[in-house]
Amino acid sequence: MTSPIPCGRFAPSPTGLLHPGSLLAAFGSWLLARHHGGLWRLRIEDVDPPRTVAGAAQSQLQALAAFGLAHDGEVLWQSARGDAYQAALDVLLAGGQAFVCHCSRSEVAASGGIHHRCVAQQPRPDPAVRFRVPAGSVVQFEDGLRGVQTQDVHAEVGDFVLRRADGCWAYQLAVVVDDAAQGVTEVVRGADLLDSTARQILLQQALGLAVPRYWHLPLLLDAPGHKLSKSLAALPVDSAHPVPVLRQLWRLLGQAPAALEGVDDLHALLAAALRGFDPARLPRQDILLPPGALSAPMLQNPLSPT
Ligand code: GLU
Repeated sequence: MTSPIPCGRFAPSPTGLLHPGSLLAAFGSWLLARHHGGLWRLRIEDVDPPRTVAGAAQSQLQALAAFGLAHDGEVLWQSARGDAYQAALDVLLAGGQAFVCHCSRSEVAASGGIHHRCVAQQPRPDPAVRFRVPAGSVVQFEDGLRGVQTQDVHAEVGDFVLRRADGCWAYQLAVVVDDAAQGVTEVVRGADLLDSTARQILLQQALGLAVPRYWHLPLLLDAPGHKLSKSLAALPVDSAHPVPVLRQLWRLLGQAPAALEGVDDLHALLAAALRGFDPARLPRQDILLPPGALSAPMLQNPLSPT
């Protein structure tokens, strides 16, 4: 199913509050979709119960609403999508493109860390299901920001997991099934997922799904080069002050500050941002932030009541 008009999306995992890096991806994705007159979908990627933090999804949804980043249609919750993932898995199993795998993590590690054939010594009660990646599975795609990307998925990744031994659906399968179901044509997300894209394209091809365009936005890195959104020091964004926060993100997205000058109302600011947005100015490299670059009102003061 493809949309007649461009369709972007934001798909946070509910593992915590929104950080500047994830809000940067949300704002960039929203701008790219809306600037082209497109739709913008929302999806909560809650397929990994061990990593899900209670209440995080609701606070992410509240933060997006506070920043005025409105989505189209219903929010898609991955935890309710098991039947769709099972149907896709059945297609792959029936076609021999997926297989049940009894190898343990340590057995795969002992055979070089990349799964190319099963080495399990004994069957497990809880086998995983993997996607078979034959030799020569080289994927090439053109990223909207980073240019032509090539990955030899067989050599660099190997047979990858679709359903984990603990029964959870793997991100790679869920994201592909849901991007297709939501009619997504523009996947705009952080560059930490650049490395997953080739796997997703292999799955789309195996399932006969359209391949969307990919745009990988820069990561925000703190001074030692850690991804900010994963760094311990990263604080959640302050959704009580959306206008100055969006102004800072606008600049981080390489956009001309003049386009937002003199606008203090949230909805006027978003409208001005859509008018002034220039995709050609988006940064193509990760952004190394000097110490203190993100300060109040970007970040919530941990001592202030929320
Ligand atoms: N759920 C993923 C995350 O929060 C993003 C997945 C995607 O955009 O493809 O990192």
